[in-house]
Amino acid sequence: MAHDLDLFVIGAGSGGVRAARLAAQSGAKVAVAEEYRVGGTCVIRGCVPKKFMVYASEFAHYAHISEGYGWSASGSSFDWSRFREAKDREISRLSGLYIANLTRAGASLMEGRAVLKGPHTVEVAGHGEVTAQKILIATGGRPWRPQDLPGVEHTITSEEAFDLPALPRRILIVGGGYIAVEFAGIFAGLGVETTLLYRGDAILRGFDDDVRHHLSREIERRGIRLLLGQTQTSIEKGPNGLLSRLSGGDAIETDQVMLATGRAPHTAGLGLAAAGVEVSSSGAIVVDGFSKTSAPGIWAVGDVTDRINLTPVAIREGAAFAQTEFYGNPTRFDHDMVASAVFSQPPVGSVGLSETEARNGGAEVDIYMSSFRPMKETFYGGQEQALIKLVVETKSQKILGCHVVGPDSPEIIQMAAIALKMGVTKSQWDSTCAVHPTLSEELVTMKDKFVRATRADH
Ligand code: NDP
Repeated sequence: MAHDLDLFVIGAGSGGVRAARLAAQSGAKVAVAEEYRVGGTCVIRGCVPKKFMVYASEFAHYAHISEGYGWSASGSSFDWSRFREAKDREISRLSGLYIANLTRAGASLMEGRAVLKGPHTVEVAGHGEVTAQKILIATGGRPWRPQDLPGVEHTITSEEAFDLPALPRRILIVGGGYIAVEFAGIFAGLGVETTLLYRGDAILRGFDDDVRHHLSREIERRGIRLLLGQTQTSIEKGPNGLLSRLSGGDAIETDQVMLATGRAPHTAGLGLAAAGVEVSSSGAIVVDGFSKTSAPGIWAVGDVTDRINLTPVAIREGAAFAQTEFYGNPTRFDHDMVASAVFSQPPVGSVGLSETEARNGGAEVDIYMSSFRPMKETFYGGQEQALIKLVVETKSQKILGCHVVGPDSPEIIQMAAIALKMGVTKSQWDSTCAVHPTLSEELVTMKDKFVRATRADH
């Protein structure tokens, strides 16, 4: 049966756009539907504006340390509206580039919400029904909030945080994941009195435990109030702000409460059942190694599949789909050894296994770890500490994990990931000559195994 299109992509975010462009460049007839703005979470209300906010928020710290370097930085101030306008301009520019790249590749864009009507049919608001030989779902995720929390309607998520009409004087951020930790750094850096509330005993669950404890200490050093082992029980609107009651019995009053309690696959109302697409109990679309769903003719990539929810992963999944289906080159994206960075202040870079993951997997491991004050700190008398850690399998001497907390760690970890992906051993790693004076040189000069006595000594 002839279809209108070879490929219909639902969602013009990172994964969908990459797949659509590549497929169109192969000569396929491709259309992409987008209900909001082209660029998706990453460009419009995620990685990109977040990074601008991180940059904006770092200047106060630089101003603080600049005094120790001979500068006189007093009197500087921050204008949120001016920043927000500049950020919005840049995001519009980037979104425009995405549109230009799509159309240059030969794909057409349909503005409107798309809903599946069958395995080869979608209905796009304002455009009617379209049929396609293949359909790719790349609708991403949405912030998730506990709806049973009394007063949840008074809260914001990261989506609103990008466009606040004014900066609050005080904010409570709930959660201990990437978004909570990154926004706590942003708001604190911008001068907002910031409290981070997390239900567990250390932020960033899933990361290496030494990283988690180290970062907790460092963000407190930067002035963030960290409340652990507690949850919010209710939020009430009062005359002077929002009053959050906590499970420990305390109450805290702030001007904003931001919930960073996770994100969920964006599948509501998509018509998955009509098309026979299976979803998991968490609502994620179930796919195989080639991103194929349970419905013939339908694939899914990116956060909607809840594999590794990172932009570059969605891009690779989209590219692998296009290679497989439009270039006759069966390609699976390898989800192993994907590095990630948390743009906290200081930031974290991490690739491979944590010490706990390695040990739980049955590996006997050697640990190399060092915590020290980077050169920039020592000069002005700052106390901020960096942390570097390698998890090495004793038998093979392969480096299983590399973890860095400190300035430029996201840049450092990208390079470390190449070596770990290639299966580097500790002696090969150490044979690389250091670059001096840098923080990362410490990574190739750790000779002594770290011996853990008690938790108190690290
Ligand atoms: P995460 O899943 O990373 O963190 C969610 C946090 O909310 C956890 O600390 C979790 O606690 C806590 N939480 C969940 N439910 C509740 C609840 N009912 N009450 C209190 N706390 C709760 O989600 P994020 O929203 O931070 O980020 C979503 C994803 O987006 C990330 O996993 C990441 O893949 C991606 N991302 C990546 C970034 C980067 O690469 N730099 C930046 C931002 C996002 P617990 O740990 O106990 O489960």
